[in-house]
Amino acid sequence: MPAKFKLSKREWGWIAILTLLFFVFDIGLFLEQDLTIPVEGATAKDWNRDAFWREPWGKSGVHKGIDIFARRGTPALAAASGVVVYQGELKLGGNALMIFDSKWRLHYYAHLDSTTVGMGTWVYKGNVVGTVGDSGNAQGRPTHLHYSIMSLIPYPDRYSTRTEGWKLMFYLNPTDYLR
Ligand SMILES: [Zn+2]
Repeated sequence: MPAKFKLSKREWGWIAILTLLFFVFDIGLFLEQDLTIPVEGATAKDWNRDAFWREPWGKSGVHKGIDIFARRGTPALAAASGVVVYQGELKLGGNALMIFDSKWRLHYYAHLDSTTVGMGTWVYKGNVVGTVGDSGNAQGRPTHLHYSIMSLIPYPDRYSTRTEGWKLMFYLNPTDYLR
């Protein structure tokens, strides 16, 4: 086999992790799981439920999540148990995180002031994953957590003719899931 087709240890690691996720996590599809509001002490009053899919929304086009307002430094919490699949700096999202849960959903956290977990960290629902801030394009605006949920498994019945409506098959409205 030519050398260039050899997988590195790191790549084998990723294959092992993904295989594990596939076999272990699909059990989660059958378990009911409410999501925790991902900001410590927050209630449904701390976000505007109408802000989901609001447009126009700057460079994002449509606002694909909700903004949970809280003071800088307020702990951001894992809405569900899962594994951190992204931790880094994004132009719009600033200090951002992505957590993959047992129902094949991605939980996106943006504008964090700090993160306390890294790629590959397993988190349990309610664990602290970072703190609320105003990084990325939220700079200078009231500090808040931008939170989105994206299902990797589409919901075809949620297709809509609204702007970017096909994406509603993937983006879930957090207000319907947070308890
Ligand atoms: Zn937002």
